[in-house]
Amino acid sequence: MSETPFDLFVIGAGSGGVRAARMSAQRGARVAVADDAPLGGTCVNLGCIPKKLYSFAAHYAEAFEESKGYGWSGSSSSSPPVLDWQLLKANRAAEVTRLNGLYEKLLIGAGAQVVRGRAHVAGPGVVEVGGVRHAARHILVATGGWPVVPPFPGAEFAITSNEIFDLPVFPQHLLVVGGGYIACEFASIFHGLGAQVTQLYRGEQILRGFDHEIANFVADEMRKKGVNLRTRSGVERIERDPSAQGGRLRVTLRDGSTQLADQVLYATGRQPNTAGLGLVEAGVQLAANGAVLVDAHHATNVPGIHAVGDVIDRVHLTPVALAEAMVLVDRLFGTGQRTLDYELIPTAVFTHPNVGTVGLSEVDARTRYGAVQVFRSEFKALRHTLSGSTERTLMKLVVDAASDRVVGLHMVGADAGELIQGFAVALKAGATKAVFDATIGIHPTAAEEFVTMREPVA
Ligand code: FAD
Ligand code: NDP
Repeated sequence: MSETPFDLFVIGAGSGGVRAARMSAQRGARVAVADDAPLGGTCVNLGCIPKKLYSFAAHYAEAFEESKGYGWSGSSSSSPPVLDWQLLKANRAAEVTRLNGLYEKLLIGAGAQVVRGRAHVAGPGVVEVGGVRHAARHILVATGGWPVVPPFPGAEFAITSNEIFDLPVFPQHLLVVGGGYIACEFASIFHGLGAQVTQLYRGEQILRGFDHEIANFVADEMRKKGVNLRTRSGVERIERDPSAQGGRLRVTLRDGSTQLADQVLYATGRQPNTAGLGLVEAGVQLAANGAVLVDAHHATNVPGIHAVGDVIDRVHLTPVALAEAMVLVDRLFGTGQRTLDYELIPTAVFTHPNVGTVGLSEVDARTRYGAVQVFRSEFKALRHTLSGSTERTLMKLVVDAASDRVVGLHMVGADAGELIQGFAVALKAGATKAVFDATIGIHPTAAEEFVTMREPVA
């Protein structure tokens, strides 16, 4: 057992854990952070960063094609550009390794101690890592989540987002199961990289919970680009196909039809990482799915044990984990008693084209406010007048009729993720439609449409 107790012992060096450890150490607290995986957690190693790098890679295929309308030549149907999957993987891995090193430097630079190994709570104020016990005044559980594959015959042949980044061989046919962020993003990305992609979603429409029009629109755009998106569909079983070369998989769908696929990606949600953490033994209350239950201050029911990030199963986004960590650090090592405002969290789905959104869907706004006005603009972006692409853009504003406040802002189109961030500030500041109308546009951009919509459509 270490002699002097740590002020804070963080379990998990992902987005939330690293932020809490670094900021607490900078405020003079004696901090340790434990992880058995490369530093940075899901976002850096198996999530946001490698995903976005592959999304950039996938966009080049379209860009080569679209450049012809702008007078460029060089690639032809007889010699189309070729993706070097091994090189892409190697360059991605090198960048991720650089980030792992940066995280270590930041932590050590701030004065935090990095402990390598799997940690568990071994008693009140005690964390054990690799047989060594550490005393701590406060313990932060920031262990994130893990992909879930439902049980079915042949589930062992399915892969998850954890494996997809490093597939030894690029899949010629990828079958994707799910209709959430990960399924839609990887369907778009692998299609862009050159795979034939079939996406199966069990419900009526992908991206459940998003504005219906936005979900319908992006589904149509994905189909137009070539993703074979099938709703009300799912997998019955997967078998290794003995007759096919290269060990392809024979996938039997619920309608009895079969498909041959090189890989089957299950993107059917994630569950909190709390198994074996010693939390139940310590008396910490967990939800039925294992999520750590915390109050508005990220405190569990056991004094001195706190939790942030995906493990509390509120909003699975890196900036939210970071914000939760900051609120906690302020409480533990500052004067703050503030809580996090979970309203108006902007988010993007990096499909091709992107979805960007902040605030309420039209349906949710009607439920909350009753009378709402909807403004809508659908168009072909200027860039595609010469590119030959049929991609279209949709922008939508939802306004509370009584207060004139813009309560929802949604987009499907290029760089929607970049564009929505600034508008999220406006919504957070309570901007009304009149303020949008009084704002001068930037011409010629797609973004200017958000300040030039004049006639409500509903
Ligand atoms: P994590 O980052 O998951 O970190 C948890 C850490 O705890 C891990 O390093 C793990 O090894 C460690 N750990 C677990 N158990 C133990 C233990 N017993 N002892 C020691 N260490 C332990 N969010 C966005 O905002 N934008 C995106 O574009 C985006 N893309 C994503 C793409 C994918 C494919 C995935 C899977 C997620 C994506 N996310 C994205 C979500 C984002 O990655 C998570 O919300 C974020 O990483 C959560 O941070 P966290 O600190 O809660 O957990
Ligand atoms: P999601 O919860 O977003 O989506 C899960 C999908 O799987 C849903 O379509 C769900 O269907 C479906 N599903 C669930 N169980 C089954 C089942 N048994 N059989 C078939 N389908 C099933 O989870 P993801 O795994 O996509 O992502 C996890 C979280 O990570 C996201 O919620 C998001 O917060 C975060 N993330 C963020 C990203 C970003 O910011 N760009 C990118 C990637 C992840 P149904 O809708 O019917 O329930």
